[in-house]
Amino acid sequence: MIQRFGQTAVRRYLQAAVFSLPDTYAQPNRFVNIQTAFADFVSLIFPRVCLACEEALRRGEQHICTNCRVELPYTGYHTLAPAQNPLARRFWGKVPLRYTLSYLKFLRRGRVQHLLHQLKYKGQQEVGQVLGQWYGAELAAQGFAAEFDLIVPVPLHPRKLAQRGYNQADSFAEGLASALSAPWSAHALRRTAHTKSQTQKNRVERWQNVANVFEVTESSAIAGKRILVVDDVLTTGATLEACAAVLLAAGAQEVSIATIASAELA
Ligand SMILES: [Zn+2]
Repeated sequence: MIQRFGQTAVRRYLQAAVFSLPDTYAQPNRFVNIQTAFADFVSLIFPRVCLACEEALRRGEQHICTNCRVELPYTGYHTLAPAQNPLARRFWGKVPLRYTLSYLKFLRRGRVQHLLHQLKYKGQQEVGQVLGQWYGAELAAQGFAAEFDLIVPVPLHPRKLAQRGYNQADSFAEGLASALSAPWSAHALRRTAHTKSQTQKNRVERWQNVANVFEVTESSAIAGKRILVVDDVLTTGATLEACAAVLLAAGAQEVSIATIASAELA
């Protein structure tokens, strides 16, 4: 009873205080200005920085600065005919892919490596979302909007997922899905074995490492569909090749792949 009375009294006091303010303070614009000023003040103490170059973001910039957006090393693969696409050629004779897409060129010690590191190890899933939306919008403009029935991120093993707390490919799938107006599913594929790190292996070893670790959870969700498999980075392509193979074996009509970045083979 006392508590309720107390709350009412405080509310009446605040209402009275607001109504007694000069008119300018009650204007909606003024309120927005105060919010903006407060946001500027907060960013002065905790500057929001670009996830690619670490420079402070300016007002209106979200996650990646305008300069980086202009300067990122785009592949432009989606504008090339398959025979001209160097990434598509890497899969020839291995697994049939409809489209072989990658947004950025992976360059060591550059902005792209920094972005991928933020996404994979620093919890910055906005990297995947933003790049997925930007790439999805470009793909839609290029006529890809109705080309995919389902977007499927390469899954992590459940133990790895529990360690990291999220799959770094999910946010990219989500961003692409929203820009392409296509559904995505984190559960269409399952990783059944916990594979060792791929980084110290050659191409054959990498393929042996992932050849039997993926399975389709429900064939009816895949059969007859045009699937886009997505991942953060493509190096040898062994992981995406393995995913495409099981999806085709489960009855997918066709499989395409898209990654945030791809490394050029030495
Ligand atoms: Zn930047």
